[in-house]
Amino acid sequence: MSSSEVENLIIIGGGPAGYTAALYASRAELNPLIFEGFQWGGQLQNTTDVENYPGFPEGIMGPEMMSRFREQAERFGTRFVSDDVDRVELGDGGIQKVFVGDDEYRAKAVVLAMGAEPRRLGVPGEMELMGRGISTCGVCDGAFFKGRKTMVVGGGDSAMEDAVFVAKFASDLSLVHRRDEFRASAIMLERAQATPNIDLMTPYAPEEFIAGEDSSLATVRLKHSESGDTEDVPVDGVFVAIGHIPRSEVVAGQVDTDDEGYVITDPVSTKTHLAGVFAVGDLVDHTYRQAVTAAGSGCRGALDAEWYLRDTEF
Ligand code: NAP
Repeated sequence: MSSSEVENLIIIGGGPAGYTAALYASRAELNPLIFEGFQWGGQLQNTTDVENYPGFPEGIMGPEMMSRFREQAERFGTRFVSDDVDRVELGDGGIQKVFVGDDEYRAKAVVLAMGAEPRRLGVPGEMELMGRGISTCGVCDGAFFKGRKTMVVGGGDSAMEDAVFVAKFASDLSLVHRRDEFRASAIMLERAQATPNIDLMTPYAPEEFIAGEDSSLATVRLKHSESGDTEDVPVDGVFVAIGHIPRSEVVAGQVDTDDEGYVITDPVSTKTHLAGVFAVGDLVDHTYRQAVTAAGSGCRGALDAEWYLRDTEF
């Protein structure tokens, strides 16, 4: 099916960035169409209590927050397609095309907001115990482990940052990395090393996560990277901080991306190298990756698209 109508704006991605772009664009009377994905809500769908989003002093559950973002966009006329985009045909200006199966949608502008996903270890128990002792966000969940035994996995800046943050709450924290050398910047590593309740364990990597009687995480089986020996370590919480993967596969080869797959935008706006195509949120963000920063970025994308539509003849 091919819709004959040309939309003003299509937004791809149903997380904080996409819904905020939809909210702003719908209030600007652009009548946006958002492809929010089959599993709309983004990473916050897998989160429990969100305590660091301003305006919710008592905290809010991640899925509930995403429902509210969605409702707010809907209130001003956003239209939703709860499907994943299969393919795009993006150009430098002109009409942009988005495909879901054989259905073709056309628009004058597109905001890309597909987000990123935490890289997984891919070991038994990891997915099953996600949210039940395993987390991929120290800043989000560290405070739930007050006085508990914790572990951070990874050797980059994210792991150091998570370790130093979580160690403020935890009784003790093992920082587990698969090599003796760290990828993290010297200053971040030094901070972790200087924290009294952080213990560096190298070269080890988790081989399996094991639940206790209450079905939440109880033990991590660590494997020594060289000898192959394994060791069972009792633990209450594990933070997997081994990087993120931007979800740019659908636009790969059409929009400029960096070596890691993040979409490249103009440093002071959300413009990609293609006129009429904007990118926001975790899809472009190596560093901050918070719901609040993604939402702010979505707002910028909608405003950039609005100004582009205002100033461009079709
Ligand atoms: P990263 O630099 O890519 O580090 C990922 C770490 O995870 C590496 O140490 C890697 O080990 C390890 N790893 C990857 N796959 C693994 C696996 N399957 N099993 C075990 N370990 C695995 O990612 P990041 O730490 O998220 O940082 C991403 C970017 O954000 C960097 O540019 C970083 O500087 C930046 N950042 C900056 C700050 C800050 O300045 N405040 C904070 C956070 C992030 P190997 O080293 O062996 O490959």
